[in-house]
Amino acid sequence: MNFFQQKTVKRKKKKFKSNSIHSKMHKMVTFKFSQGFLLDLIQLPENETLEDWLAVNIVEFYNKILVLHENLSEICTPRSCPKMTAAPKYISTLLDWASTEINDPELFPSDPEVDFPKNFKKRVKVIFRRLFRFFAHVYHHHFEAIREAGVDHHLNNCYKHFLYFVMNYKLLNTNELLPLQELNKRIIQKDKEEEENKIQKKK
Ligand SMILES: [Zn+2]
Repeated sequence: MNFFQQKTVKRKKKKFKSNSIHSKMHKMVTFKFSQGFLLDLIQLPENETLEDWLAVNIVEFYNKILVLHENLSEICTPRSCPKMTAAPKYISTLLDWASTEINDPELFPSDPEVDFPKNFKKRVKVIFRRLFRFFAHVYHHHFEAIREAGVDHHLNNCYKHFLYFVMNYKLLNTNELLPLQELNKRIIQKDKEEEENKIQKKK
């Protein structure tokens, strides 16, 4: 399938069947996220499969990115990305593509009894890689505007959650994370220092 020849689809937030395992896990993830970032947020819950866990989380990241992208609609336009006139179209095509993937019932069966396809992890990795490009674009080209709009804290939290998740499950390799290398280093370093401070205080 050619990424750039995808037809535009109506993007909507993905919802899980109510009361399914997926919807329960998804609620847990959104709740923990709303309580502030916790490292245990990314840990695979006991008795759950990795596939289920990846499915729930990719939907969570996708939904968050949709909201961020909506907030950017005035900011990320061909006029505001003068050096990269193709960028807004690129991001929008990317999200359309992700929407098609995430709403593909074969890739993400809504019935928990139905197995995930054999190439599930491979396809999921591609989605994570492309969602990463959204963050890379936003940080490189729109961070000032985001800060002015006062949503930088939210963006940072979303990205930090995303970064720890893809690192933990090896969904993106070091090379693929290079476009945001400096930011990644800062995030990891800051958390390390905060951890050390906590330990110091306990002593
Ligand atoms: Zn842009």
